[in-house]
Amino acid sequence: MMRITLMLLPLLLAACSQPPKDIQETRFMMGTLVTFTVAGSDATKAKAGIRDAAAEMQRVDTEFTIYGNSDNAVKRFNAAPVGKAVLLPPEVATLLQTALTVQQQSGGALDPMLGKLDKLWGFSSETPRQHPPSEAEIQAALPPRQCLRQTPQGYVRLDPRCQLDFGAFAKGYAIDRGIAMLRKHGIRNAIVNAGGDMRIIGDHDGRPWHIGIRHPRKAEGVIGTLALSGDVSIVTSGDYERFFIDHGRRYHHILDPATGWPAMASESVTVIAPNATLADAWSTAIFVRGVTFLPQASTHDLAVLIVDRNGRIHANAAMQRRLQHTN
Ligand code: AMP
Ligand code: MG
Repeated sequence: MMRITLMLLPLLLAACSQPPKDIQETRFMMGTLVTFTVAGSDATKAKAGIRDAAAEMQRVDTEFTIYGNSDNAVKRFNAAPVGKAVLLPPEVATLLQTALTVQQQSGGALDPMLGKLDKLWGFSSETPRQHPPSEAEIQAALPPRQCLRQTPQGYVRLDPRCQLDFGAFAKGYAIDRGIAMLRKHGIRNAIVNAGGDMRIIGDHDGRPWHIGIRHPRKAEGVIGTLALSGDVSIVTSGDYERFFIDHGRRYHHILDPATGWPAMASESVTVIAPNATLADAWSTAIFVRGVTFLPQASTHDLAVLIVDRNGRIHANAAMQRRLQHTN
């Protein structure tokens, strides 16, 4: 009898020390698959957190999109007469301020006012183009440098070509809001992954989360892997995400505000930043700037990996420190 008890005990202990299983759920939203992974939490808490995080991210998408039929403050601003002051809701004004800061810090590579140009190119439309627009059409949609004036009564559009477009960083902001919602539920270890753009918090049963950076030209290929824990946001902008090929040339959804044409400096740019909003804004901006921006990246607290237009890989010191291995 005694012997049986002793033998059972280690087995029971082993069973008790098993970490709780990850809870994982995937939803389609913001035009992509969003996967929520929660580790080290009981299932009921994890599922309630994921439900609220998904609802919050859906809300953000609806508030900020310039597409679809539903009404929002961004669309109303874009439709307001030039010269008229319009009050933006605090959440929209705050995100716009973040974008204007990155616009200034990136030398104009990020432009939150190119909604009209974005619609002309149509990469986010239901019926995408097969051929590029004409130069005259581009000039009629390309916003000038001075697009906005801030007044006590609100923001003023200075030109009909100036229309808000949060497409370059709304997904990152949604990810940040999703993580905030998980934390509100007491969840400490999680990933919110929206089509490869993600924020990770905590760890995976005491070990880091392992994340691969995908190769822009090899669908299953990985450039390198990262072992991440704590609070890390990582976002990639790539010319393979939304594009068409015409006469052997690739036209894609990241536009150079200097020309109105797709930016030609990079194939993909991966950025690690303090939050997903910044990682998303900067990945788009650095995609436009290309490797010339790399030396400045650390002054903005960014780890950056660039695959340039020739397929060559460049990483700043902050990214090299984090990369486990490169292929
Ligand atoms: P991302 O995939 O995060 O690099 O963002 C690309 C999206 O941001 C596009 O679909 C446009 O809506 C918008 N966009 C494209 N080029 C720019 C740019 N230079 N600055 C700001 N937004 C842009
Ligand atoms: Mg972006």
